[in-house]
Amino acid sequence: MNDIARDLLAWYDLSARSLPWRGIRNAYATWVSETMLQQTRVETVKDYYARFLARFPDIASLAEAGEDEVLKLWEGLGYYSRARNLHRGARQVMAEHGGELPHTAAELRGIAGIGPYTAGAIASIAFGERAAALDGNVIRVTSRLMGIREDATAPSGRRRLEAAVLDMLPQERPGDFNQALMDLGSGICTPGTPDCDACPLQARCDAFAAGDAESLPNLPVKRPPKEELWDVLILRQGDRVLMRRRTERLLQGLWVFPMIERGAASGLAGRVRRLTGLRLRGLSPRGEARHVFTHKVWQMRLFDAGADGEAAAPWQWFTPEEMRALAIPAAMRAAREAALSPQRETEAAGEDVSHI
Ligand code: SF4
Repeated sequence: MNDIARDLLAWYDLSARSLPWRGIRNAYATWVSETMLQQTRVETVKDYYARFLARFPDIASLAEAGEDEVLKLWEGLGYYSRARNLHRGARQVMAEHGGELPHTAAELRGIAGIGPYTAGAIASIAFGERAAALDGNVIRVTSRLMGIREDATAPSGRRRLEAAVLDMLPQERPGDFNQALMDLGSGICTPGTPDCDACPLQARCDAFAAGDAESLPNLPVKRPPKEELWDVLILRQGDRVLMRRRTERLLQGLWVFPMIERGAASGLAGRVRRLTGLRLRGLSPRGEARHVFTHKVWQMRLFDAGADGEAAAPWQWFTPEEMRALAIPAAMRAAREAALSPQRETEAAGEDVSHI
């Protein structure tokens, strides 16, 4: 075993985080946890992981479920394409692999939604393959440790990082080694100023010796997310509220209220009519909400109104009880709360809302 692996694993044996998905040899559980952990904090994932595994304890039960139920269990965790892909992947494993995940990173990459990171994590943790698993933490630690200063997102930088991790990976315990790198990156070799005095690899670290750890990894500056301005409408008929299932890539399969992008020349009432087939009756503001996605921000004004007429497809009416069973994204949380609370007194019927 090389010196870095020996020192890192000795540290890991003393300091490993105790996490519900660790210490179990179950490739499916590793798949679920690693999918949930992408872009998401460990503390947030714990409850979702427990609920998901309780409802879908194995690949077969996940494959048999409907997408709505899978998305409902994922509600609030964000990045819903992960849930849809996990579901599709489970069906693929049932159809093509007899219900058992393949054992190598190369084969795992052929499953829907399993990219190089997840494939490396499953293959190393569940099947003991010497496979690299490059997440943000591992990229940061490896860039600093090995002094890799080229753009970590460029293909050549990526290849160097992967080769460096493969060089360090020991024959024994490759899964623990990968998880140790992740733990080091999350607790000690953190973004910004790392805690080098607590690091078991300080004596072997290129960036520590060079004094430039804070500037690594070399990542291009991200563009700020683009702001979009929306009016979100809670449209009511009796005790029912209007929603539709999104087919767009963003939040696909989740249920949303009517949304009108602000800034168009035509009035709100006419645009609601074209969007839903309904005539607005009265309108009252219900506050504002903001939701940040990776590449965009939705800045939303919420409105409550009655609506007359027949709703056009794909719009559907839901009672509060029915709405509670739908998978509704966190972006719609404020609107959902408003929809579930009584409608405020609306302005006079027939009000001219064309300037909103
Ligand atoms: S010495 Fe510092 S920069 Fe180097 S790996 Fe350890 S924490 Fe990171």
